[in-house]
Amino acid sequence: MITCDLHSHTCHSHARDTAVQMYEAALAKGLAVFGFSEHSPRPERFTYTREYRDRLNAGLPDYVREVKALQADGRCRVLFGMEIDWFESDQDFVRRAATQFDFDYLIGSVHFLGEWGFDDRQEDWDRLSAARKDECYQAYFTTWRKMIETGWFNIAAHPDLIKIFSVDDFHRWLAREASLRLVKEGLLALKAKGMGMEISSAGIRKPCREIYPCAAIMRMAADLGLDITFASDAHATEDVAHAFPRLATYARAFGFADSVVFAHGATSRMAF
Ligand SMILES: [Zn+2]
Ligand SMILES: [Zn+2]
Repeated sequence: MITCDLHSHTCHSHARDTAVQMYEAALAKGLAVFGFSEHSPRPERFTYTREYRDRLNAGLPDYVREVKALQADGRCRVLFGMEIDWFESDQDFVRRAATQFDFDYLIGSVHFLGEWGFDDRQEDWDRLSAARKDECYQAYFTTWRKMIETGWFNIAAHPDLIKIFSVDDFHRWLAREASLRLVKEGLLALKAKGMGMEISSAGIRKPCREIYPCAAIMRMAADLGLDITFASDAHATEDVAHAFPRLATYARAFGFADSVVFAHGATSRMAF
């Protein structure tokens, strides 16, 4: 049984529920470790259709205070983290975000290619030709590797998020040897930096209807002996530890038997 969920959000960003409510959901699910990984505010050029920048900027001190208070509760081990966006053009901004608080751990995420939030809208993808989509997949994994190579983060989030709105095209692209090689470069960097690769049930709830990452990437990760983490990426209490029995079966099928927990520079393992 997976008893550790290292990816969750609160109402300080675009999620629905409070930190206390998310924590109570973690307790109800029998989790031993629960990681809060609220989004970090983005520079103004990087905008989603439903933008929550102002609310998040205003709520960040409360987020920190609330998570710290929950750490004292003791019924479930609470980790204070953040999900940091990687912006290749704004690396100083990213670095500041990654060092703004005394975090237990950090998740690094690529949600933007240039200034395009590619996980925002299906319509954006419906307009793209097959060739243009291939360029996006290529750009995503090139960017993903650069994010990893900074060494600023502990976990690489939702490794194949780029498939979110075009899963069939993505698999067509990934079946090529050159594509697999590119993804593998990212995984090798991840191993070199001592990071964990996230296995996330969020994809099941998105239009791609697949766990992040897909089987081909899981196979490479297993061959390379990568460390893994489990994530629901919950934005509401009912999604805390979402589909974890399915994630456990999935990970076990590739030979994984434990996941890692990052806490203030220390790494521990938890069997599942
Ligand atoms: Zn994310
Ligand atoms: Zn997230």
